[in-house]
Amino acid sequence: MQYRCPKCQSPKIMPVAQANAPAARPVVPKSLVFLVPSIFVLLLLVLISIAMWLFGDGAGSTLQIATVVVFVICAVAGFLFYRDLPDFKISMQAFMQSQKKWKCRECEHEWEI
Ligand SMILES: [Zn+2]
Repeated sequence: MQYRCPKCQSPKIMPVAQANAPAARPVVPKSLVFLVPSIFVLLLLVLISIAMWLFGDGAGSTLQIATVVVFVICAVAGFLFYRDLPDFKISMQAFMQSQKKWKCRECEHEWEI
């Protein structure tokens, strides 16, 4: 099983959806579903806080509490994802191996395993 384009050796390959085969999807852990949006919200809150420190009298206490709460959610989700990671890896590997048709994003070459 190779994860490189046989033509240009690029690792930038992607599976091509097969019409006749059932779409196998990796099982995405719920912790990841939680983690990604909460990191975005945390980044947003931190950016707003920084902007308020720079242009105002500092972040309001509501904003500070919200930032801390979101940070705690991120930490918990991150810890849960860390625990789910081995299962997620196995699921991703099974997904990669179940894909028979691949396409290279560098040279548009398509091939079948
Ligand atoms: Zn290629």
